[in-house]
Amino acid sequence: MARRLAGDRLVIATHNRGKLDEMAALLRPFGVLAVSAGSLGLAEPQETGDSFEANAELKALAAAKASGLPALADDSGLVVPALDGAPGIYSARWAGPERDFARAMALVEERLRGKSDRRAHFVAVLALAWSDGHVECFRGEVHGDLVFPPRGKRGFGYDPIFVPAGGSETFGEMEPAAKHAISHRGAAFRKLAAVLFAR
Ligand code: IMP
Repeated sequence: MARRLAGDRLVIATHNRGKLDEMAALLRPFGVLAVSAGSLGLAEPQETGDSFEANAELKALAAAKASGLPALADDSGLVVPALDGAPGIYSARWAGPERDFARAMALVEERLRGKSDRRAHFVAVLALAWSDGHVECFRGEVHGDLVFPPRGKRGFGYDPIFVPAGGSETFGEMEPAAKHAISHRGAAFRKLAAVLFAR
């Protein structure tokens, strides 16, 4: 059974400033105050799960249990069926410790050499956890194709090689608002909002 939010504070279980700002902006219209995990001094757990859901859940549960407040966490990545789902939950790690996404995109191109299937999708899972251990997940996806070489300077991560289905520009070329309207994160958030803030 889906739970509503009691109170107006939600911990955002991320130490990433960009994600915090994005989630705070999405929650503001609903009268929810986003509190960062960093400001509460919460530790960041190891992402040891074997799925987006498992990793989002473990981050949200750790923050909820440590703070006593409901907590929201996300896990996301790029899934390439021709690479058996890689980079998947390891999307950030493919960029190495120096977060070099030019390298990560080159690695995807190299592994796809000789393969004709260029389909890919982004996945985002939002997990909302309460301090008593209750947790709910919301998954959003956006499907499309990979193109090489990378195009566009907007966005982040793998955006410059991803063209959403029916489009011609990469996520790296699109207006941010146009990307958010169809993105995996936007879709997951709309599902969460429909449940959490339903009247
Ligand atoms: P996370 O912080 O573990 O969720 O890492 C997700 C990784 O997936 C990011 O570092 C990006 O590499 C990739 N990713 C997730 N969402 C997007 C997106 O919207 N555009 C481009 N790359 C993304």
